[in-house]
Parts: sequence; C-alpha cells; structure tokens
Amino acid sequence: MEGRPADTQAARYPRPVSPADAPVSIEPHDADLGESLHAFVAQLLPFRRCITGDGLRQTLLAIGERVPLRISEVPTGTRVFDWTIPKEWRVRDAYVATADGTRVIDWAESPLHLVQYSVAARDRMPLWALRDHLHTLPDQPGLVPYRTSYYAPTWGFCLSHEELERLAAEVGEGGELEVVVDAEQAPGSLTYGEVVIPGETSDEILLSAHACHPALANDNASSLAVATVLARRLMDGSPLRHTVRVLFAPGTIGALAWLDRNHATLGRIRHGLVLANLGDAGGLTYKQTRRGTFDVPLPIDRAVRTVARDLGVPLDIRPFEPTGYDERQFGSPGLDLPVGRLTRTPHGEYPEYHTSGDDLALVRPESLAKSLAALEAIVRTLDGDAVYRNAQPFGEPQLGRRGLYASLGGLPDGPAAQRAALWVLNLSDGAHSLLDVAERSGLPFATVRAAADRLADAGLLVAPSSPSGDGR
Ligand code: ZN
Repeated sequence: MEGRPADTQAARYPRPVSPADAPVSIEPHDADLGESLHAFVAQLLPFRRCITGDGLRQTLLAIGERVPLRISEVPTGTRVFDWTIPKEWRVRDAYVATADGTRVIDWAESPLHLVQYSVAARDRMPLWALRDHLHTLPDQPGLVPYRTSYYAPTWGFCLSHEELERLAAEVGEGGELEVVVDAEQAPGSLTYGEVVIPGETSDEILLSAHACHPALANDNASSLAVATVLARRLMDGSPLRHTVRVLFAPGTIGALAWLDRNHATLGRIRHGLVLANLGDAGGLTYKQTRRGTFDVPLPIDRAVRTVARDLGVPLDIRPFEPTGYDERQFGSPGLDLPVGRLTRTPHGEYPEYHTSGDDLALVRPESLAKSLAALEAIVRTLDGDAVYRNAQPFGEPQLGRRGLYASLGGLPDGPAAQRAALWVLNLSDGAHSLLDVAERSGLPFATVRAAADRLADAGLLVAPSSPSGDGR
C-alpha cells in the first residue's frame, strides 16, 4: 500500500481514456454490442463517485467523450425545493492500521471501505471501541457493504465480516488501532450532466440515470453505460419527432437540483423513464408512473408493455409507490411527471445489492445489450406513435385499386402487414393511436407503424397528430 501516489484523489483515479484508445466501440451495428457495453461499465466502475466531487465529474467526463454532455454545477448552499445542496466531499486518505502501521482497512483499495461522506477523524482506539464505526454483513461474510451518511455527520469503515474476524483474532478486542479519515466537507458544488438530442418538436422524452454510487457495477455503472450508448445510437439514427434528454445526476439531491432548475419547462416532458440496474441476469422490471398506477396507464406505461411483448422479453410490472429511485421525485404530487422506471432486478432484490458483490461478474454483456435494445424500441415506439384519421372511412377503401394488396403481398410478413393495414384503417378515427392498434391487434408496433406509413403514402390517412402525453 505504501509507495502509491498519495497526494490527491485525482492521482489515484484512472484518467478517462480518450476516444482514440477507448476500449469500447459504439457503432450502431456492432455485433459485439454487449461486450462493448460491458467494457464501458468496466471503464466507469473505478471512478469514486459520490453525490458531489471529482469522482462524479470524472464519470461525466468519460460519458462526455461519447456524447455531447452539458455539465452543470450547482453551488453548495443552493436551495432546491425543500433541500439544500450539501458541501462537497473530498477524501485524501482513509484507513485503519495496526500498531506496526499495517493498514487493515484501506480506502485506497476500494471506495466501499469508507462510509460515503465520512467526516474527518484521527484517533487511536481499541477494537472494541472501533466496532461502533465498523459495518459488516454477518449473513454475507465475504462481502463489503456500501454505506452512506450524507446528512448525518459521522465516520465509519466497511469491511467483510471475514476480514473483521481475522482482525479480531489478530489483535484482540483490546488491540489498539490507528484510525485516519483525512477528508473534508467544503463549499463546492454538485454536478450533473445531460445530453439533449433535438427532435422536430420540443415535446420531450426524459431518461434519467443516477450517478452517485462508487465501485458498484449493476447499481449504477450499468445504467450509465446503457443510457450513454442509447443516446449515441439515437443521435446517429433516423430523426426523432421528440427531443430526447438523457440526464446523469446523483440520486435524490441531483434529481431534485435538476427538477428545481428546470421547474418552468417540465411541461415539455411527455414521457420518461428512470433507469437503473440494467446489467444483471434477471428479466426486465417496469415500475409504472404515478398517474399510470392511480389513474389510467400513460403512453410510457403502455409502450414498455408493448415493446416487451414485441421482443418476447419477460416483463414484471409493478405499481408506483413512493420509494425506490428518482421516480419518487419525478412522481411527487406537485410534479406528477409521466415517468416510469425500467430496471432488470430491482434494488434490494438481488443478494449482491449495495455490496462488493455488485461487480463486473454480476453484469452480463447479453443483459446490457438486451436492455439497450428494449430502451431503443421504447423510445422509437413512443416517438412513432400517432393518431391518424382514415380519409375513406365509409366502408373499407379499395386497397387493390391503389396497389396496396400487391405491395403488401410482396412483403416477407405480408399477411401481418395486410392485417395491420386493416387495423390501422379501422382505428384511425381521430381518437385512437397506433399504440392502441398494436395493443388491440396483437401485432408488433413496428408492423403497425410501417402499415400506417404505406397507407399515408397512398393518401388513405390524414395528417397525424400527436397522441396526448397524458393518456386518454
Ligand atoms: Zn443504490
């Protein structure tokens, strides 16, 4: 442990790699997308993220090398709704050492070893007294827990229960230990970043991923990686009607800061998703929007369900409740935004959650790639949804005369395409949307959308209007 660069946090961090030597390719048609995403998770994992500070900034810089990221700093002391931006936490060194100077718990080895936001401490004490400041998981004795104390001034160390038992056997309860937490909480700022992909309209799809956990792969490096690559693919793909905004902010206080600063324009948000835990081997879990739970399902609630059906992906749908990630803030009663949450296994439901077991082995390349594919389809479904009016609503229009039977018959999925055309013509009454058609017909949304395009080209559908963002 001696001899490492010790002066600043920055000296210990791996520097963000430049695009030229980035270990990840994000070409839209990369066959090894899952491996690329996994490599990106591995690149983001070492940054010592917290709700403020340089680890968070380094994470955002790494994301900003792949997409144009606008970074904002909110000064310490700024009021955001009922909260105040805290002081910035900076750590230079933190360890517990035995009498001969051997470090037995060391923050330099892993940021998980120090309770996040620990205040400065420098002391000598017997093990029995230090135990009040030690956190272990007796039921998972090989894992180091992740602990925070953002708003209560204290300090503490985390270690595996096995390590603690080895230490106790070595020094005994009365054995004296040196404790150093060389850290400060000083005026600074809280950082968040956002990518905006301009669409034809200012109607927005908001995607939000929390960016404050250090050294945990699924929660939250996986969602940072997937959201970044999604943003890149949307930028490089066909034009969007909606503007898509991807927000990377520390959990709770970061989301609150962004919401407070953008309070006047939140009405632009038509659909949204909080993203987390997108890399584990579990199936997809969707937590509905607040209104979708207590009133009627919103387009985002329905689009997620339709996409999972179309992709043949198992989907566990949960109701909104005011716990969990930042959907709590987006779904607070004064904001009540149409924002659901997409995860694979939800927080607290996998044994490695908030422990050192949430590592690169827990995150699977194929899970990351499938999460990305689902998200891209969700965005394209929301963006492609529209309400049309049938231009020939009195009886069925004569499709053959317009060459539409022939053209439909020439498609690989001809029968489905023809069925989709009949469904679109029937439900295009100015009230029902293409998402309604996909739901009612059981046909994939993409098939429905393609049928609508052909019918519109033939003059059989009248100018689309956007379906209401508030559901019907
Ligand atoms: Zn977490």
